[in-house]
Amino acid sequence: MDYSLLVVEDEEKIARLLEIELEIEGYKVKCCSNGLQALEEFRAAKWDLVLLDIMLPEMSGIELLRRIRANDSATPVILLTAKDSVEDKVSGLDYGANDYITKPFQIEELLARIRAALRLRAAAVPADSDTEEWLQAADLKVNEKTREVIRGGEAIELTPREFDLLVYLLKNKRQVLGREQILEAVWGYDYYGETNVVDVYIRYIRKKIDSGKQPELIQTVRGVGYVIKETS
Ligand code: CA
Repeated sequence: MDYSLLVVEDEEKIARLLEIELEIEGYKVKCCSNGLQALEEFRAAKWDLVLLDIMLPEMSGIELLRRIRANDSATPVILLTAKDSVEDKVSGLDYGANDYITKPFQIEELLARIRAALRLRAAAVPADSDTEEWLQAADLKVNEKTREVIRGGEAIELTPREFDLLVYLLKNKRQVLGREQILEAVWGYDYYGETNVVDVYIRYIRKKIDSGKQPELIQTVRGVGYVIKETS
């Protein structure tokens, strides 16, 4: 099986070394040197494992981990931490990292930990993969793990942001959500933008999942925000 690894590391030498060694092991590797960019990469594709440095430009590894874990509790994350930084290790594990390795590390040890994390992950998947992964409203089904969106048996393509927005609405089905609340959950609290970006994206996903279908799932609550409901 071809595993895809996202490597987030801003020290060029280390990133290069990791890329070479991991590719020799047969992994597909994508390197990213900046936290924000890494978040975009993470959301844009499916990864089997993330190697994450903590000190990064633009967004720290810990913050990136927090964002990843907000929507994804399954993808293994191994932290690369600086020597003696106990605090980083602890908060990293608190935020849901699966493991960490201290720099400088022996590549063999890192490879062994990657194999172990992938094995654990493979063992954890089958049991609940089909029943619990699907979020549902009427004939709309969304699978967070495979990122599939199906309505009335038809597959629908969403962009990563549209997908995150739909998942957030579905997880809070029947609750009216304000624009600010949606903005914070889906775009992050440090998003400097207008809340009307929410309206724009709601329009996009409505067009894709609701247009011409019954019942209309995404409903506007005037002066408040939006809600997903099965009945109008
Ligand atoms: Ca660094």
